[in-house]
Amino acid sequence: MKVGILTIGNELTSGKTQDTNSSFIARQLNVPGWQVAAMMSVGDDENAIRGGLNYIMGISDAVIVTGGLGPTADDITTVAIASTFSLKLYTNEDVLRHIQGLFEKHRLKWTPNNAKQAVFPEGAETICNPIGTAWGFSLKRNGIIVAVIPGVPAEVRRMLPEGVIPLFRREFTEEAQYVESRTIKLFGIAEAGVDQALADVDLAGLGVNIGFYPNFPENHVVLIARHASEAEAKKKLKKAEGYVKERLRDYIFAYDRETLESLVASLLTERKLTLAVAESCTGGLITDRLTDIPGSSAFLERGVVTYSNVSKTELLGVPEQVLHEFGAVSEQTAILMAEGVRKIGKTDLGLAVTGIAGPTGGTEEKPVGTVFIALTDGKKTICHRSFYRWDRRRIKMVSSQSALMMLKRYLTGEMRDD
Ligand code: ATP
Ligand code: MG
Repeated sequence: MKVGILTIGNELTSGKTQDTNSSFIARQLNVPGWQVAAMMSVGDDENAIRGGLNYIMGISDAVIVTGGLGPTADDITTVAIASTFSLKLYTNEDVLRHIQGLFEKHRLKWTPNNAKQAVFPEGAETICNPIGTAWGFSLKRNGIIVAVIPGVPAEVRRMLPEGVIPLFRREFTEEAQYVESRTIKLFGIAEAGVDQALADVDLAGLGVNIGFYPNFPENHVVLIARHASEAEAKKKLKKAEGYVKERLRDYIFAYDRETLESLVASLLTERKLTLAVAESCTGGLITDRLTDIPGSSAFLERGVVTYSNVSKTELLGVPEQVLHEFGAVSEQTAILMAEGVRKIGKTDLGLAVTGIAGPTGGTEEKPVGTVFIALTDGKKTICHRSFYRWDRRRIKMVSSQSALMMLKRYLTGEMRDD
């Protein structure tokens, strides 16, 4: 089956928004026998939509369209598709009631243009939107299925696997296959390194697909096993996962939906430990990531950004003389920041980061990208020095990751004494 992807929106053709939907969809369509024939973006323009759709349908068995299903006047996808196929439009009362219900539930003011989202081309089947008001729809023309969903990436992430792919599977029935997948998340190794480490493993021979997805500063490996029997698919996946674990154990920190911050949060919560964080070069990023986790107040007592020397002294009690003698970016300062924030926060653990994010401020001894991370539990304090060759933003990201990794290793007892 050949699939075409058509993304619609002026934000795409003006270059304001990058079309991430197409690449996401293409990755999700990684099914044996399915192939993406083309990806195209057009603006919110009826002629462009009609032209794009006709072209894509000429080379595809199934088409996925995203974008332009919203309530505003610039969202014209439904009208343009109906006119392309000379179909009338109708209001689906069930969908209308559903949208009105959502407005009531969230106490939003109803405006008449919202009713537009319950309008579909005649003969279309609706595709449920579990997280938004813009439902999708599908229709069949000359044996080609066209599935239309909103452009909001979070909605695509839900509606594609829940609504569109099952529909395609039903239409293009091949032998029933069970698909088992596992995402393995790694840190501290580049994509090429992962590839190299797995060079001796014959995953294809095992019938398992492997995909590499760099997600800075992490690298994700996705294994997909398929088989007519569910047990067999599971077995193959487990075997493949074992190969990856054997070779990359030191870099693996999470699986599937787990994130580094969610893991740290559940470890701290389970152990009933509290944490205070002092950040310099990460500017609050560690605290930001931890507070993304619901219930973080159970363990996070405070996060302070102490950017200047004065603030390190005033808020954390780092002696001026230490800053003067060793510098704000030093092992001594990092340790005193961690110990200081723990003491002031009266917490079990204190975590601190200080570094040079650049592009200026580096010296020969401490070049841009030098970062010290310290963690203390009151009895013992550990400090690591790292060096990253990235730009400012990525140094912040990788530093926050390293700090959370240090915390995770401490909590799981993987911490080495060094
Ligand atoms: P809805 O029907 O839910 O309103 P829409 O596509 O009509 O979806 P837009 O306002 O056009 O709504 O887009 C919603 C958000 O989704 C915007 O932030 C837009 O930048 C983003 N978006 C739309 N299409 C894409 C795409 N192909 N890739 C990445 N982001 C996209
Ligand atoms: Mg739009």
